Amino acid sequence: MATNLWRLDIPLEGNPLKNLNSYLITGEERSLLIDTGFRQDSCRRALTDQLAETGVDRETLDIFLTHLHSDHTGLAPDFVGAGGRIYISETDGAGLRLGLTDGYWRDMYEEYVREGFPREEIDRLWLANPAQGAAPRNWSAGCVTLRDGDRLSYGGVTLRCILTPGHTPGHMCLYGEEPRWLFSGDHVLFHITPNICRWQSMPDALGCYLESLEKLRGLPTERLLPGHRKETGDLDTRIGQLEEHHRHRLNEVLDIVGSAPGRTAYEIAGRMRWSIRSTWREFPVQQKFFALGECLAHLDYLERRGRICRRERDGLIRYSLLP
Ligand SMILES: [Zn+2]
Repeated sequence: MATNLWRLDIPLEGNPLKNLNSYLITGEERSLLIDTGFRQDSCRRALTDQLAETGVDRETLDIFLTHLHSDHTGLAPDFVGAGGRIYISETDGAGLRLGLTDGYWRDMYEEYVREGFPREEIDRLWLANPAQGAAPRNWSAGCVTLRDGDRLSYGGVTLRCILTPGHTPGHMCLYGEEPRWLFSGDHVLFHITPNICRWQSMPDALGCYLESLEKLRGLPTERLLPGHRKETGDLDTRIGQLEEHHRHRLNEVLDIVGSAPGRTAYEIAGRMRWSIRSTWREFPVQQKFFALGECLAHLDYLERRGRICRRERDGLIRYSLLP
């Protein structure tokens, strides 16, 4: 990497994402750490050891969070320097605080039960969801919220914030104009497809995501710095592939809805193709949760565009094609 840019490889044990890329830009006075890993011992050790290898003075660390997910934010309050700042978009800053309350998850899980998720699986999820257990503690310290177009400067590099809602309601990429670095967070990933799911505060998540992809098209980049796995490929090519993936997914969902009207989203998700090699019944419950969220984002997209409709019957929401 460049002399003042480091990639820290943080393992996410037992998680299909496999790793988180944390990035460090060192500067003379302050340094910027971008994303942190879960609040878990394995992540904490990896981050501690790799920061030590760079020789950065941890007291000079400010932290930028691409989005609210706990694999990115979990350790932020523990690693920010004394008097340092934790940057996050206004929207995800509010979302993160909301996600730290039990009520938020209870409401979401109830909604998922109405979408067909079996209650006993939801009960298991309640105990196992890392979004609850590995989220940051003592969140409020030093938090500074950012808006689209805001600029930060570290190590002689000016970084522009690009708001890219979709993966989360306030996901933000960081772009350095000189050198042309794009920290793409989970908005554009290369070896895996970013998860797009329904959000209470973003009723058309997939529509927002596709719009945000267009926002990056044509951006000149020398270095692509995604939130997970390796940096490869060309930005515009990858944007095209991600758009194609969702077009394909939308058609798949339409076919499933059309083949038998009145299925629940849980039943529809169970018939979609997933990269995990196991049957839907054997899917780990956490992965089912993401799969259902992803299915709902596609159903919402189709419903808003007049292709399908939803009806609630006996406490369950069922989907059918519109003629
Ligand atoms: Zn994420």
